[in-house]
Amino acid sequence: MAKISKQREESLKRADELKRTIDDYLNIRKSIPKGLDLENEYQKNKNHILKVLDANEENWNDYKWQLKNRVSDIETLNRMINLTEKEIDSIRKVGEQYRWSISPYYVSLMDKYDKYDAIRMLSIPSSIELIDELGDSDPMGEEFTNPAGTITRRYPDRLIINVTNECAMYCRHCQRRRNIGQTDNHTNTQLIQESIDYVKENEEIRDVLITGGDPLTLSNDRLEWIIKSLYEIEHVEYIRIGTRTPVTMPQRITDEFVNMLKKYHPIYINTHFNHPKEVTRESKEACEKLANAGVPLGNQAVLLNGINNDKYIMRLLNQELLKIRVRPYYIFHAKHVKGTTHFNTSVDDGIEIMEYLRGYTSGMAIPTYIINAPKGHGKTPILPEYLISRGKDYILIRTWEGKTYKYENHQTIDIKEVY
Ligand code: SF4
Repeated sequence: MAKISKQREESLKRADELKRTIDDYLNIRKSIPKGLDLENEYQKNKNHILKVLDANEENWNDYKWQLKNRVSDIETLNRMINLTEKEIDSIRKVGEQYRWSISPYYVSLMDKYDKYDAIRMLSIPSSIELIDELGDSDPMGEEFTNPAGTITRRYPDRLIINVTNECAMYCRHCQRRRNIGQTDNHTNTQLIQESIDYVKENEEIRDVLITGGDPLTLSNDRLEWIIKSLYEIEHVEYIRIGTRTPVTMPQRITDEFVNMLKKYHPIYINTHFNHPKEVTRESKEACEKLANAGVPLGNQAVLLNGINNDKYIMRLLNQELLKIRVRPYYIFHAKHVKGTTHFNTSVDDGIEIMEYLRGYTSGMAIPTYIINAPKGHGKTPILPEYLISRGKDYILIRTWEGKTYKYENHQTIDIKEVY
């Protein structure tokens, strides 16, 4: 038998050790439903939904049809999936206070028989929304950070313009629930113009985020007018769009839309996947179309009780996203919004997830965990502790495996003195 070197022997031992740290994940991963593996089931659901709506494949692929045919009555939803008596009762009661509406596409991702299915919980109203005594309608104090038009300004060099309250689906955890109301309202031209003028007049604004609601419920022409007006402002360095349509209505990402975007680079899109079941063939095609048009994609997940407050689900979600060219960007700690606090988790859940990502998976798959400070005081990153203590010329660090090391801390020299 060939003699192996000491280095190879050590390396093999270390490789074995590393393999053991991933065994739990590999076992559990098999039991987490993944959209890319559920294509056949989704296809069957889609065929059934098309029958219920007396529609065809061409309709399905047309986002205008998806938007127009959002499901918002109990009877139609019940014909598509098996609602329980309790669900029917909840939808009826909650619907009087909070709007609900789900694109046929998003309905096709539901498990017909499991009321705890993540897709159902994210989209079907629950009576628990009505007994929420903890939430606030505007915990971010957005009404106090609105200097003009429909702008929200919380930072020195960037701001948000809200262009609509309409969405392809009204998420049950929506943090802007107060804007959703009972009817769809696109922001009028005068208010958008006022917002654009504010950006023009304030030269420190270099980054503008177009959001809503979901801005991609606007027509391409309307969006192009807004994007072009911002693009033409010299001090605006890039534009960002926040949209959940790659998740809730991927048909919206048409060739016409991406060809329009291409004219106004640099443009970034941040989307909002919360569960691996949402990463489907159709959402993959939408994200690929955007990436091929040179639009970098980021994901802003929200940490949600019963949906993704699980270290394995969150790890899988981030890995699935990278497969479809979306970079995990943020995990938001859910805000205390009235009607949604049953989705809130403890901060410990978020820290545990972050602890379990760092080192265990690629840095690319690790978003920043963020708590939004109350009343719009900004995004605050929350991390497990890796710096244990510090001395005059050293620090004590903890690695992802929990090993501690003393690390020499050299002082920064004046580069001009030695160069
Ligand atoms: S898509 Fe966004 S804004 Fe619209 S309901 Fe969902 S979370 Fe709220």
